[in-house]
Amino acid sequence: MAFEGLSSRLQNVFSKLRGKGKVSEDDVSEAMREVRLALLEADVNFKVVKDFIAKVKEKAVGKEVMDSFTPGMVIIDIVNKELTDLMGGSQSKLARATKPPTVIMMVGLQGAGKTTTSGKLAKMLQKQNHRPLLVAGDIYRPAAIKQLQVLGEQIKVPVFSLGDQTSPVEIAKAGLQHGKDNGHDYVIIDTAGRLHVDEELMEELRQIHSHVNPDEVLLVVDSMTGQDAVNVADHFNKQLELTGVVLTKLDGDTRGGAALSVKAVTGCPIKFATLGEKLDALEPFHPERMASRILG
Ligand code: GDP
Repeated sequence: MAFEGLSSRLQNVFSKLRGKGKVSEDDVSEAMREVRLALLEADVNFKVVKDFIAKVKEKAVGKEVMDSFTPGMVIIDIVNKELTDLMGGSQSKLARATKPPTVIMMVGLQGAGKTTTSGKLAKMLQKQNHRPLLVAGDIYRPAAIKQLQVLGEQIKVPVFSLGDQTSPVEIAKAGLQHGKDNGHDYVIIDTAGRLHVDEELMEELRQIHSHVNPDEVLLVVDSMTGQDAVNVADHFNKQLELTGVVLTKLDGDTRGGAALSVKAVTGCPIKFATLGEKLDALEPFHPERMASRILG
């Protein structure tokens, strides 16, 4: 299960603290040393860990905490709150255009889960009584268009495609127009990914961006890739101004690094997480729930 290592290590640290009636500064320092190691081992960005520990320490060693009846619990609360803040504080919702359709551009590297996430998002919106349209803009990965069409059929959401011989920019423009003409209130554009971030990909995405002026640019990253996911997010964000991140494969045994670092490193909120291959395995990302889950 995701975060298992981190979760059990933190729980260990805190069960020691909780057992103490009085907590000394040394106890806090010792606990923070262990928290630091646990976070680093979970592949959380080094600088993020450093800042996190400094913040918790500053709040935890005050006289008020030491003199409270349950200092261990107070410190756990502090850590819980800081973990929540680290992941963005409160839930960051999907944008909505004042004048429909809301345009969502899905970007990411190949294999991150972009196409399936597009389908999951369409399904979620449809369940909320919206009328999404999927636009098949990944013309390079063999079978990506077909994959989206199959997903569309499963969830009964129309898929706009112009095959793989038209440029992605033209497909995006025509798809948006099709959405407007047919009363769709959300247009989800699946774009091409590559195996690595490259300039050509970015230029194409920038072109699409400037033509469709999206309300959301969601980067789909594979949480199993840890710090690589964070580096990819950082790179995309510098080139494209992301509005949010979708963390995929949280059902796997991800250590947690991506979930805990991506907001702090990029400033971009995690808007959704996916937890499986099934089409309803998409959830809005709740930082506070995730923090509580990690702390057990
Ligand atoms: P794309 O190249 O980014 O469009 O990636 P795909 O959407 O084709 O997904 C790549 C693979 O990851 C597929 O086999 C998906 O079923 C799988 N996948 C996507 N999201 C999840 C998830 O949340 N959990 C699991 N276990 N697999 C996922």
